[in-house]
This record gives sequence, C-alpha cells and structure tokens, in this order.
Amino acid sequence: MRNNPLGLFIIPDDGLDMRLQVAKSLQIPTAHILTPPTNQRTIDNATLLAEKFNRAGVKITVMFCGFPGESYASIDEVEKTVGLAPESTCTARLEECKQIARFAKQMGVDTIGIHLGFIPQDYCCQTFQRLLQVTRELCDFCDSNEQRLHLETGQEKAEVLLDFIQQVNRVNLAVNFDPANMILYGAGEPISALRLLGHRVKSVHCKDAKWAANPGKEWGTEVLQGQGDVNWEAFFATLSDLGFTAPLTIEREITGPEQLQDIKKAVSFLNKTRQAF
Ligand code: MG
Repeated sequence: MRNNPLGLFIIPDDGLDMRLQVAKSLQIPTAHILTPPTNQRTIDNATLLAEKFNRAGVKITVMFCGFPGESYASIDEVEKTVGLAPESTCTARLEECKQIARFAKQMGVDTIGIHLGFIPQDYCCQTFQRLLQVTRELCDFCDSNEQRLHLETGQEKAEVLLDFIQQVNRVNLAVNFDPANMILYGAGEPISALRLLGHRVKSVHCKDAKWAANPGKEWGTEVLQGQGDVNWEAFFATLSDLGFTAPLTIEREITGPEQLQDIKKAVSFLNKTRQAF
C-alpha cells in the first residue's frame, strides 16, 4: 500500500485555506470534501473552490453529501435524521443530491459520497423499497454526469449493505469503507466487513475507534489513528489483496488544533504501517 496516495477529509467551511496548507505541507495530494451548503453551490463558487484546490496541488476524489437537519448526536438521532432514509425529507434530499452532483461535476469531481442512513434488513419494508428506488435514481443521474456514487459504511452490517447494493444493481454504485464507523455504530468487525464488500470498496476513510460497552446501542469512541480497535495491518493486507489503488484518506472528526496535530500523527502512523503491504 506504499504507493497509494494519501488523502485528507476536508470540510470547506472549517478553515479551508489552513487545511489546504496542512495537506500541502504534509504532502497529501488528494482530498475528500463535504459539499458546501446549498447557498454556496454556485458556478462561481465551483470555479473558485476548484482553483484553490488546484493551486494547492490537491485533487478532490470524492465530494460528500450533507443536509440541513442531520444530527449525529446519538445512534437514534442518526436513524431519524441522516441521509435519504427518513421519509419526510427523502424527496427533497434526493433533489439536493442531484444539485450536489452537478456542483461536483462543475468542479471536475467524478464521485459523490453519501451516508444513506440506516438501510433496514427487511427487504419488504417501505423504507428499504424507497431507498432502492431513490438510490437507483441517484445512480442514474450520476451516470449521466459520468460520476460514481459511493455509500459510506457503518450504519448497517456489511451483509445488509452488500445485499442492498446488489439489489440496486447499478455499475456506478460502490462503497466508501470507513473501518471506524463499523466500530462506532457497532455494525460488525471491520476487517471481515471489508473482505465481504471486497471490490465494491472504491474509496476509504482512515479513521480509528474503540468499541462501546453496548455496541449498536451507544456510540463507540473515535480516537487517534493507531490507538483504537481497527487492526491496521489486517486492513492494509486486505486492501492490498483486493488490489486497491485509491487514496488512503485520513478523517479525524474533531475540531481545533488537536485535529491538525492528529492529522500529522496519522500521516506518520500510516506511512509507517502501510510500508509492509
Ligand atoms: Mg467516514
């Protein structure tokens, strides 16, 4: 895995220039970004943002969707508010996803990422069927823009996600694998999940976490990479077996100076740990 480019997850509203400087100084050549808010998705802003990344020499490989009203305060709140799963906001958010895909296209970004929300295990339930339909529609929209759609892991077990992807049945649908999310949500052991999802994994987040005392009922705890329960040697060995060539994108979901320090530590950790694979 020593030849995979490194990446950094960047939230544009969270001190973009400084984060681009950090990426540059740490020789991180790629990024995943969260979409800017609705009122900033203009053509002018797409040009401006693309120029900033170009000047910094950082290529955006995935743009993630985000919506007003989403809350990650607890696992219950996620189920009620996140992604396309909640019925009351589904139609409006599908349209917003298309707007995000258009904005990404204007910036030259060929992949959209999303937390769909909890995919139910029950194929027959309305939520599952509705999610199938809207995901197909979004895939087809992305396809018309020559874009892919990546579903972020964590909210459901890998088996459920795999079945869902097979039922959506679109070639431009893939997985953004976040091993820490599997632990944070209590959705299953990350390495076996990675093996199961296999070649469908087209992008990853390098993030670490510790299991909760009651996994699935309460949050696990996100920690500095290398200090959590992700087996990074097995993670890189599995990615290497899969022939994974995409960036290793560092994600540290805290704010302030500690985030920047942890990103530097994560780069050192990654560079040391991935060498053997
Ligand atoms: Mg993630």
